[in-house]
Amino acid sequence: MKITNSEELFSRAQRSIPGGVNSPVRAFKSVGGTPLFIKKAKGAYLYDADDNRYIDYINSWGPMIMGHAFEPVVEAIQKKAADSTSFGAPTELEIEMAELIKSMAPNVDLIRMVSSGTEACMSAIRLARGYTGRNKIIKFEGCYHGHADSFLVKAGSGVATFNIQTVPGVTAGVAADTLTAPYNDIEAVEQLIAEYKNQIAAIIIEPVAGNMGCILPAENFLEQLRKICTKEDIIFIFDEVMTGFRLAPGGAQERLKIDADLVTYGKVIGAGMPVGAFGGKLDIMKQIAPLGNVYQAGTLSGNPIAMIAGYILLSHLNSNISVYKELDEKGDYLRKGLFNVFDKANIPVAINQIGSMLSVHFINKPVNNFADSSAANIALFNKFFHAMLDEGVYLPPSAFESWFMSNALSYADLDNTISAAENAIKSIK
Ligand SMILES: *Cc1c(COP(=O)(O)O)cnc(C)c1O
Repeated sequence: MKITNSEELFSRAQRSIPGGVNSPVRAFKSVGGTPLFIKKAKGAYLYDADDNRYIDYINSWGPMIMGHAFEPVVEAIQKKAADSTSFGAPTELEIEMAELIKSMAPNVDLIRMVSSGTEACMSAIRLARGYTGRNKIIKFEGCYHGHADSFLVKAGSGVATFNIQTVPGVTAGVAADTLTAPYNDIEAVEQLIAEYKNQIAAIIIEPVAGNMGCILPAENFLEQLRKICTKEDIIFIFDEVMTGFRLAPGGAQERLKIDADLVTYGKVIGAGMPVGAFGGKLDIMKQIAPLGNVYQAGTLSGNPIAMIAGYILLSHLNSNISVYKELDEKGDYLRKGLFNVFDKANIPVAINQIGSMLSVHFINKPVNNFADSSAANIALFNKFFHAMLDEGVYLPPSAFESWFMSNALSYADLDNTISAAENAIKSIK
């Protein structure tokens, strides 16, 4: 495969952009090699600067649930842009977006739009602290809630990929207010609650973790957390930046039938535009300025181009809920197909999957938390990643990231992915 244009772009990029990228995982540092510079994408396919075509399993880390350049979204953006790209004043479209989200997602009485998932989670935590008057939060090892200071403690995603233990620049004071427990370990949470009685403002969790690979909540885990939060007056925050509008119209709350107090969104909600949101129960959301004194603001929040993109995509999903069933079936099909390939080749593997989220871990035991995910054969994953790229399949460049499927994937694409895996395994053995 020829990637000379990407190679040239990468060396040029490094002279003006830190590491040549605007978000660390893109640099391919953990898997090695040159990151591919992308020229365009359509449907299930990405095209790089050398015109190579790849089946895409990143989908912009989630937003492209209907595939790239989804026509209704592209047309709406083009039309909207002619009316100016920002006002800094309220618009009717923001009401329509909020009403649509309320109609789709459980437990959202009020919702505030922001411009990224990081902003959504950061604001939700401030709100939980403001509402409860408590300082500490509990998060789970390997969960990623964006790059705000409070969350960069035992974080997933790039922090895990690059094995960064403590992030310079995060003060000890801030880090001390972030308590952590292993994912799926209810006893660890109970211990923290006992130790820090009446000091914990919130428990924040990815209801299905997607930033240490894809890890499903153990049976009853979320139910038990819900009970603890209710009993201890702790705000239960679902970070649905990945799962929102992806696992069901109402996200993980709907799919797993658990009520959160606050929910954060990102990724799918903006159809690829920079959008996030946080919302939840009236009593809590009432504390946000200008209703209350918990201050939160954004010059470009509710931006018309971002709103129309998200609104058109969410409306489409809401009126075509068969998409979710189709994605579930495709996810199952891919998991089974890949499993057969590794099984036949005698390669120990755990493949975690729910709906259109999936991850492959080269390990001979189930993967239920960050320690399990870290114990897998990362070197083999990195080889597999490159062999798949050579076969024209673009996976997330890290063993600690979930794969995201779009409904633009055909069964022929899935079959091609499975046979690519077969070839990839042969080439690296
Ligand atoms: C991506 C992600 C974030 C951060 O969102 P950004 O838009 O990258 O700031 C937060 N939480 C989860 C679960 C995510 O996957």
